[in-house]
Amino acid sequence: MVYLDHAATTEVRPEVIAEMAAQLGALGNPSSLHGHGRAARRTVEEARESIAAAVGATPHEVVFTAGGTESNNIAIKGLYWARNAEAPARTRILVSAVEHHAALDPARWMADHQGAVYEELPVDAVGRVTPRVLRDAIERDPDSVAVVSVMWANNEIGTLQPVRELAAVAAEFGVPFHTDAVQAVGVQDVDFADSGVSALTLSGHKLGGPVGAGALVVARGLAPVPVLHGGGQERDIRSGTLPTPLTRGLATAVGLAVAEREEHAEHLASLRDELEAGVREAVPDVVVNGDPDRRLPGIAHLSFPGCEGDALLMLLDARGVSCSTGSACSAGVAQPSHVLLATGVDTEVALSSLRLSLGRTSTMGDVKRLVAEIGPAVERARAARAKRRR
Ligand SMILES: *Cc1c(COP(=O)(O)O)cnc(C)c1O
Repeated sequence: MVYLDHAATTEVRPEVIAEMAAQLGALGNPSSLHGHGRAARRTVEEARESIAAAVGATPHEVVFTAGGTESNNIAIKGLYWARNAEAPARTRILVSAVEHHAALDPARWMADHQGAVYEELPVDAVGRVTPRVLRDAIERDPDSVAVVSVMWANNEIGTLQPVRELAAVAAEFGVPFHTDAVQAVGVQDVDFADSGVSALTLSGHKLGGPVGAGALVVARGLAPVPVLHGGGQERDIRSGTLPTPLTRGLATAVGLAVAEREEHAEHLASLRDELEAGVREAVPDVVVNGDPDRRLPGIAHLSFPGCEGDALLMLLDARGVSCSTGSACSAGVAQPSHVLLATGVDTEVALSSLRLSLGRTSTMGDVKRLVAEIGPAVERARAARAKRRR
């Protein structure tokens, strides 16, 4: 079996499993004052410190969450509520048109249920929000912007956003800027302080850590209004008993991913280049989507004209190769990707696409298998579609 869907989720690293296993049986609520609780608290605080060090933040800025989706929800809803409470005219939420649903949907929900104004920042043909676009959007009415959210790296086509420049534009107007860095941590140089962003999302299972564990890094001085209410943990930004083993697993995964980043990114890029070259040879009219210059090293997003992406996925699956047509969250529904549509790709081409995403355990053997399977799969998918159209 060949796994080419690392943008959906990754293998939990053995080092992470070992660290978590050592904690699974430990007794003690990190909020309890006795010895058991204090021991758990020490473990959690060490995890917080190591995550902070890995991403250029202070421990105080790291808020543990249940993953990327929750972090994005807290950032977008919580910062909106905080800003709107200060000034009721601040109702606009600006998000890029290529965000993951975990950022788009909270923003849309705020518009549908909380009186917010939802605005999409358009992207160029490679999927980038330019600083000019953000500036123009804010300048239309600077006092009405509550929060901006633009991802660090796209999960479908891999495009990298000019996050530093975008954050600087938002800062000029005093608007908090959130970035979903789930796909970036461990492959890009993600430094919270240096990037100038106000809040940053990361998730464990996209970088060799446990699923159900993530963090929102929130700059000092910002206080998103909580989405979950309860015991007031995590500076009251995220109530709920801290899962000691998960925090430890997340810290181990983030620490390793950041320490090995350059070597890992090179590994991915060399496999990706080999994969794209091989597919081009097998299917000469393949289209490579995204930004050829500024993109994640581990994602190849390819369109195969005349094919249905879903059919291709199933044909490859039958041959033991796992991949995706886009984001896993919309898989199973044959809808064109909002990301591709936003870059100006037409619906038919968008529906003919596959995302092949590489990871730590990917090998040249995996790439060769995909390259060997793709030609016959494309031929069969084309024939099937032509037959149906007759
Ligand atoms: C996977 C992913 C998410 C969601 O993270 P979960 O931890 O699965 O909730 C959010 N944003 C991006 C870019 C992702 O790739």
